[in-house]
Amino acid sequence: KQILKTDVFGKRYVYMDTTESTNLEARRLAQQGAEEGTVVVTEEQAAGRGRLSRGWYSPFGKGLWFSLILRPDFAPVEAPKCTLMAAVALTKAFHKMGLTDAGIKWPNDILVNGRKLVGILTEMSGSMEEISYIVMGIGVNVKTKQEELPEELKLIATSLTMEGIDIERTEAFKIILESLEHQYYEVLDSGFEETLNEWRQLSVTLGEEIEVRAPGNTYEGVATDIDEDGNLLVRIPDGTVKRVMAGDVSIRPR
Ligand code: ADP
Repeated sequence: KQILKTDVFGKRYVYMDTTESTNLEARRLAQQGAEEGTVVVTEEQAAGRGRLSRGWYSPFGKGLWFSLILRPDFAPVEAPKCTLMAAVALTKAFHKMGLTDAGIKWPNDILVNGRKLVGILTEMSGSMEEISYIVMGIGVNVKTKQEELPEELKLIATSLTMEGIDIERTEAFKIILESLEHQYYEVLDSGFEETLNEWRQLSVTLGEEIEVRAPGNTYEGVATDIDEDGNLLVRIPDGTVKRVMAGDVSIRPR
């Protein structure tokens, strides 16, 4: 904590040995008025969550399992772009650590050679007019070894250690929080445009043939771009372009 070069992120810091989910804890703190930049970090989550109520594997001492409270004064429609912003900041942080193969799978996963290194879960509270707070949950696999992964993740997950990046969790945390803060203030100062451009550069989804799975509706196409709201544009075989929102779909490579 002392060595953090951030101005706001992590200045208020809640550490827990164990918790159900850092997002739950952060939301509770945000409800009680916790300030922007508050970070909740834990050694393990008993019920870590992904999007669409899927679980997030968060074993003791093996990763950076944390949530960050933001209170931006932009409109609620902008909130989904915070997820893309976080993905950009994290990917740049990994590049800094020497992991140049890290790329972003739309909207919120960071992959290395097709395997997931990071999951991001953004939750917002507020009205149609105003964001009360955003809680950004981030799970980074740091020290996990291949043989420790549960069966269902053996082929789809990776960690910094598995990618040959030998770094302490505190050092990785410092680089990540600094990168997140830098990206956030750039967005507050200059808007999302530059960050969305960086997202395009760092994406492993654009140009790929993908399958889109929405409830009751699965189709295939080519991911061509993201729009200014961060929605994915998918060209389906008849030439029409579909606009895919992050909330309700998952995409798979074909
Ligand atoms: P996606 O956006 O890829 O559809 P989510 O963002 O909802 O998925 O993340 C949850 C999924 O991530 C789980 O269903 C599981 O397959 C995978 N997963 C869970 N824990 C981990 C982990 N620690 N590392 C990598 N992948 C994980």
